[in-house]
Amino acid sequence: MSRFRMYPTPQQEEQMLLHCAHARYVWNLAVEQHSHWHKGRKSAPGFAEQCKQLTEARRVSQWLGSGNADVQQQALKDFAKAKQARFTIGVGEPTWRKKHVHEGFRVIGTDRVPEFEADGSPKLNAKTGKQVMGRSVVVQKLNRRWAQVKVPGCGWVRFRLTRPELPQAKTFRVTFRGGRWHIALAVVPDPIAAPGTGEVIGVDRGVTITAALSDGRKLNCPQLTVKERAQIRKHQRRAARAPKGSERKAAEYARVAKLKAREVDRRKDWCEKTSTMLARTCDLVRFEKLNIKNMTASAKGTAEQPGKKVRQKAGLNRAILAQGWGLLRQRTGHKAPGRVEDVPAPYTSLRCSACGWIEKKSRKSQADFICVSCGFTCNADENAANNVAAGQGGIPRPRRSAGAGGVTAATGRSSAREPQPTWVGIPFF
Ligand SMILES: [Zn+2]
Repeated sequence: MSRFRMYPTPQQEEQMLLHCAHARYVWNLAVEQHSHWHKGRKSAPGFAEQCKQLTEARRVSQWLGSGNADVQQQALKDFAKAKQARFTIGVGEPTWRKKHVHEGFRVIGTDRVPEFEADGSPKLNAKTGKQVMGRSVVVQKLNRRWAQVKVPGCGWVRFRLTRPELPQAKTFRVTFRGGRWHIALAVVPDPIAAPGTGEVIGVDRGVTITAALSDGRKLNCPQLTVKERAQIRKHQRRAARAPKGSERKAAEYARVAKLKAREVDRRKDWCEKTSTMLARTCDLVRFEKLNIKNMTASAKGTAEQPGKKVRQKAGLNRAILAQGWGLLRQRTGHKAPGRVEDVPAPYTSLRCSACGWIEKKSRKSQADFICVSCGFTCNADENAANNVAAGQGGIPRPRRSAGAGGVTAATGRSSAREPQPTWVGIPFF
């Protein structure tokens, strides 16, 4: 996908916001239709059926009818895709779209271009034998820095060109978030080729160090500065004090949104650069398997049984989510398909990567790891990354009780055991 910042004129902006409203309305109708479905009922209407219903609805509702039919139909197409996504990429059901939060619409290209098969021969329609004409987005490069795209009802809308050439796309999506418009041309870039060096790298993701690599590098995801965070709080405070519905309140919230968007931009940028670097330089990238959703679950509890340290947990959750762990894994997977592994790795941070001994006491502090068994000294994150790089076979699960193998569980009393000679520990391979 290639994404560019759009700069519409005020009139175009107004029209595009209307497109957003129509698309959201149609999408939410589809969500509602499908939410009424339950077992035993006739199946909820599919894309073709919904398109017929849309035509009907456009005739009845003047507001809907005045909008662009293609934009509304594409919202249904998006919905159908999202409905399929649980089978193709394994995400949940499509959910409601909210005003000011999920603003966007898809536009299908109006240009017609002949389609070709993979071997270069023209693609023919199976029934008629005619050349198949595919859709293409109408884009124009203005100069080195600017290009423009045709958006229905808006004419040419300019966008800032940040890569040498325009990609060929059949559709594009326009989004509006935090006061900024973006265009995302729907193209899937080719995966990055493996360097062929046979290098395997382990990535240990943490809060203090975002990604510790098994070759000793420590990469940090840029965060907001202390000053920027103070600014956010200042604007939030001012917004809270401004009278309800006032222009001042909206303006203060817009400033908050702008600063928060900066944080997201920085995180995304870092994730993209890091994942490209990993895909280019390593043949195999191993991540430890994390369940971020469970890790960042709230500690709030219920009203009857309130949780403990709720504020602290909320702070930690924010810190975890600010690291972009999930995005880094996801983007690396996109760029190096088949070359990324998730290693279910219990005790990666407690296991000695030199002798395999698992011991809670080896982890002296956040940063230091000194093996109580063999005396191996290492940075704790690097040690964990080494364990991840060793892969699934590298880390056996410790037994519940200390048996003849001399493995102690990482929890409970057993970690108070005396250091044992190296040779009774888990062999490295
Ligand atoms: Zn050791």
